[in-house]
Amino acid sequence: MQRNLILLGAPGAGKGTQAQKLSALWGIPQISTGDMLREARRQGTALGQKAQAFMDAGKLVPDEVVIGLVEERLGRPDTREGVILDGFPRTIPQAEALDRLMAKLKREPVWVLAIDVPEAELQLRLGGRRSCPKDNTPYHVKFNPPRQIGKCDQCGAELFQREDDRPEAISKRFAEYQNKTAPLVAHYGTRAKRVDGTGALDAILERIQRALVG
Ligand code: AMP
Repeated sequence: MQRNLILLGAPGAGKGTQAQKLSALWGIPQISTGDMLREARRQGTALGQKAQAFMDAGKLVPDEVVIGLVEERLGRPDTREGVILDGFPRTIPQAEALDRLMAKLKREPVWVLAIDVPEAELQLRLGGRRSCPKDNTPYHVKFNPPRQIGKCDQCGAELFQREDDRPEAISKRFAEYQNKTAPLVAHYGTRAKRVDGTGALDAILERIQRALVG
């Protein structure tokens, strides 16, 4: 059975953390447009340069840029058994493009899961978030710390704080989320299942799995 899953949720809701767990559990790739864009920036590609100013300002990158990235990624063979989309779609035009793409690639329709976390908690989470530049493993200095301070558990790389996890960009990202991404839950209607994204990471993972079978 093919599993194609979209994870929706505000910045800091835990999409990346849960996507990584589900990816390991199901043996299918996590596709994070945020990670792909950060990688393009690190490599200094034309696309990375184009995305940089939007990302640092906490704004969404233009639809055609991310749609092109996802189209290319979904064309690769490792996606045939399914994918976990983390951070895409983030606008209604992106959701419409995804439906067209899945139909063109003859993939099964996607499951949609929205992770709910109150805004006050999101603020706390984003301030302490750290990431691995090599394998993108997400951490939090307090809620999900690495075994050794500042170092990735998986590969030992020095963790970094994202530019857009600083206070000025955070408020812009929330505004973008409210205006452009939150309407996707209504857009998907009954296709979208909702789960409470607070509490222990493994408890959230269980809730997600239960919501998808139920
Ligand atoms: P994320 O790591 O998912 O929080 O994404 C970081 C940043 O990358 C976002 O604030 C946007 O600037 C950009 N980005 C990632 N995914 C998308 C998307 N689907 N549409 C537009 N911009 C995106």
